[in-house]
This record gives sequence, structure tokens and C-alpha cells, in this order.
Amino acid sequence: MAKFVVDENLCSGCGTCVNVCPDCFELGDDYKSHVKQDNCDNCDADEVVLECPMGAISYE
Ligand code: SF4
Repeated sequence: MAKFVVDENLCSGCGTCVNVCPDCFELGDDYKSHVKQDNCDNCDADEVVLECPMGAISYE
């Protein structure tokens, strides 16, 4: 199970990751993406990483 990490210094708050998987990511009041849970059955970890335009998402 991949554990997502968002680099808040890189995140632009575009919301793409939330659209890709709203179960794993949410935008906070700080307009940064926050991880809600580890990679779930509804998304592909590699796809999520590739979709982020800022390269802010990685996983362990
Ligand atoms: S896709 Fe990347 S830049 Fe956009 S909100 Fe998510 S982590 Fe931030």
C-alpha cells in the first residue's frame, strides 16, 4: 500500500489530485492538498504522481 506524501512547498492548490482521487486527497483552507489516506482501490499511485503538474506528490 503506497503512502502518499505532498510537498506543500511545491503544491499550487490546482485540485487535480482531488479530482483524480477525492478519497485520498482534499484541499485545505490553506489551498494546499492534504493526504486523507494511503493509496486506495479507486486510484493508481503512479497515475496520481504523474497527474500532478507541480511534481508535488510522491509515495513511499
Ligand atoms: S495536483 Fe499537485 S499541485 Fe495540484 S493540488 Fe494536488 S498536489 Fe497540489
